[in-house]
Amino acid sequence: MRLAQPLPPGSVIGILGGGQLGRMLALAAARLGLKCHIYAPKGDNPAFDVAFAHTEAPYDDPPALEAFADAIDVVTYEFENVPAETAAFLGERLPLAPGAEVLAITQDRLTEKSFLSELGIGVAPFAAVDDEFSLEWALGKVSGPAILKTRRLGYDGKGQLRIEAGDDPAAVWVNFGGAPSIVERVVAFEKEISVIAARGWDGAFAAYDVPENEHEDHILRRSTVPAKITPEDARAAHAIARTITTKLDYVGIIGVEMFVTQEGVLVNEIAPRVHNSGHWTIDACLVSQFEQHIRAIAGWPLGDPFRYSDVVMTNLLGDEAAGWSTLASRPLTALHLYGKAESRPGRKMGHVNRLTPRQP
Ligand code: AMP
Repeated sequence: MRLAQPLPPGSVIGILGGGQLGRMLALAAARLGLKCHIYAPKGDNPAFDVAFAHTEAPYDDPPALEAFADAIDVVTYEFENVPAETAAFLGERLPLAPGAEVLAITQDRLTEKSFLSELGIGVAPFAAVDDEFSLEWALGKVSGPAILKTRRLGYDGKGQLRIEAGDDPAAVWVNFGGAPSIVERVVAFEKEISVIAARGWDGAFAAYDVPENEHEDHILRRSTVPAKITPEDARAAHAIARTITTKLDYVGIIGVEMFVTQEGVLVNEIAPRVHNSGHWTIDACLVSQFEQHIRAIAGWPLGDPFRYSDVVMTNLLGDEAAGWSTLASRPLTALHLYGKAESRPGRKMGHVNRLTPRQP
């Protein structure tokens, strides 16, 4: 269902998922006088702390979903693995943004890579894998060092295995667990970047300056803005995000993860939501990615993505957030803590944005 008219202040935005992204969305919505109702299963849900209302229930609970739908004016999500049935149930009752088709494409790496290829967007050579025989064939097809990735439910490097020349496909397949997968060639990239962009119900489009992203153990460690890339690569990256969002009739913020290679820009992955590599926008831009997402889905004019400071965003993982007192005293540094009850190694507990304001 499409949004009939812009939602006035006081309207209620439904968010599926109760993590830090939902929390930062709710904080941004409040600035505009909009209210958020968070829906999430039992667990550590730091978004509940800052929301107007919340429902703690499983995603496959029709009465709870029905009551949620009755209480909100539009629905969005903060993670892409929302069950398709949940999205369909809500999408029949009220506007869902981004839409169910977007979820269907981005929940499956094979569908996603095929979609991008058909649009003429560069991706690493890839092939579907369903058993040890198709794995052997796929490794021949992509040729060279490769990565095996599960088609569904992978994030932060989970469900991934690097395969070297000479590895035995049968042993790799057993070791990997045998879920439907894809094989991709390892890309010799110069940099990893992403585009954080928004599209409105009316087709308006706005993209932020491109961050350069560094990962450690497959988890984002740092985003530096602006990325040290050529203006041509930056333009190409923005154009790719525009092509994708137009084709999908997308509404909301999208995060498109990309590799910069000698042959140009390739897409690694699409995140149909606000993205970790856009957290710097909270302090370095007039309108953050969170506010921009709320504006887009609520039918408001998109905000100006103007950036008034260079910035380095660093994630606080696990125990690093215990150093909050020192971090809070650093000059030109904004500290963000997610209020999670439990710290685990590698868990995203917060982030800091260190600013270097641009001279007028
Ligand atoms: P993903 O889960 O697909 O986002 O991958 C997580 C990280 O693994 C990426 O940000 C890259 O650092 C690395 N990676 C994934 N796919 C490839 C690839 N085909 N070639 C090189 N590095 C990759």
